[in-house]
Amino acid sequence: MSDGSSFYITTPIFYVNDVPHIGHAYTEVAADVLARWHRQAGDDTWFLTGTDEHGQKILRTATANGMSPKEWADKLVAESWQPLLNTIDISNDDFIRTTDERHEVNVQLFLQRLYDAGYIYTGEYEGYYCVGCEEYKQLSDLEDGTGQYEGQLVCKIHSKPVELLKERNYFFRMSDFTQPLLDLYESRPDFVQPESVRNEIVQFVKRGLTDLSISRQTFDWGIKVPWDETHVVYVWFDALLNYATAAGYGYDQEKFDRLWPATHIVGKDIARFHAVIWPAMLMAAGLEVPKQVYGHGWLLVGGEKMSKSKLTGIAPEQITDTFGSDAFRYYFMRAINFGQDGSFSWEDLSARYQAELANGFGNLASRVIAMVTRYHGGTVPPAVESALTEADLAIRATERRATKAADEAIERLAVHEAIARVWELVDELNGYITLQEPWVLAKDPSKADRLATVLNTAVHGLGTLTVLLSPVLPEATAKLWTALTGTGTVQDQPIRAAWEWTGGARVEPLEALFPRIEVDAS
Ligand SMILES: [Zn+2]
Repeated sequence: MSDGSSFYITTPIFYVNDVPHIGHAYTEVAADVLARWHRQAGDDTWFLTGTDEHGQKILRTATANGMSPKEWADKLVAESWQPLLNTIDISNDDFIRTTDERHEVNVQLFLQRLYDAGYIYTGEYEGYYCVGCEEYKQLSDLEDGTGQYEGQLVCKIHSKPVELLKERNYFFRMSDFTQPLLDLYESRPDFVQPESVRNEIVQFVKRGLTDLSISRQTFDWGIKVPWDETHVVYVWFDALLNYATAAGYGYDQEKFDRLWPATHIVGKDIARFHAVIWPAMLMAAGLEVPKQVYGHGWLLVGGEKMSKSKLTGIAPEQITDTFGSDAFRYYFMRAINFGQDGSFSWEDLSARYQAELANGFGNLASRVIAMVTRYHGGTVPPAVESALTEADLAIRATERRATKAADEAIERLAVHEAIARVWELVDELNGYITLQEPWVLAKDPSKADRLATVLNTAVHGLGTLTVLLSPVLPEATAKLWTALTGTGTVQDQPIRAAWEWTGGARVEPLEALFPRIEVDAS
């Protein structure tokens, strides 16, 4: 059992049948900002991401590319998925692949325990299977095909025909967990969030759960069922267990006790797997259910969910090559209310880059550093504490207020709100400098004390901002921290007391944090 200060956060493990698009990167960045915030707050933080490598879809993709499924997975992980983490500055502590031995062996251990406990039986199943979803679909999940698929039933998500499959399979007694799950949602309203996703899940479970087919016999790219090697484990059952096997389940009990339970960040389309099947599996094994399942919204481009199969996929490098990884991180975390769907557009990205990052934060940073250099030879003067004005005190109050409000928003996973609260300090500091006119004070020797207080207040506020924005803008804040001659690295500064940052007796030159970008209109 972990104490309250441990924070174990996960992304879904990504399916290696294709290359990453900005929807994947969005999930990674959200989890990363939360992980960085908690780490900087001194919480015992562990951030897991990884790849899902089994299943029929991967077998088919690999075969179509003339490779074995493992060769295909190795190639995609090395050439696409690991590099994605560098592209957008992800600070994960671990990267699990479902082909790792630590995973495969302990999935078998878990399954054997469920089997021994009587939660698994043999049965016959017939149903419509979508290879894209890797799941059997209900009729309500299907619709009539059009065009080349006229006359066939197609999956509503993939718009591709489903297959009618009949299998003799092993089943997990998931129906036993209908009531325990409803009790869980009732006693812990935060277990599934946001509210829209929670309602959908509760309604789904209230209709009653059916048992889950958890093995496949028609192909062999997967983890073998330990007591019957002619079957492989259903890919979702295999994949969900990554959160436990990466945390030491089955081989490092001490680590597992320290980390578990986790906060799972997932897209809302897979919330059902995480908030229904996964806790049922854990209950059956006598393990604690997750701390929370958070289903974020979709990224929309031209009104459609972003995905490669819908041909709207945008590669993250298309954005970072021009705007940089900080701007990528900032834009998606700020512009989209975390939990809701959000639209991406190049126009909005360019506009926010210019107004908020370049003119708002970047310009504030260069102005403050330049003024201390010009009017005080680069030395930051102490404030004259006996003569503080209301304007000075207001900045100090905002430093504390923004810190507390942002931390409170992070606790609710409201990342957009945390940034908005911190941005109040950006705006107030810009307004403060405009009103205090240090360039006027500098011309009048009798105003030297006042100039010292204004410069000190501006530098102090800028340092607090640097600490608070470090989880979102790791590159820019590292540069700024150096220019502010802060103590150690900015990540060493306890974020829940950001205004108590230390160092900063001098300033050093600072290059433009968010340089002007000429956007090609074509
Ligand atoms: Zn589908």
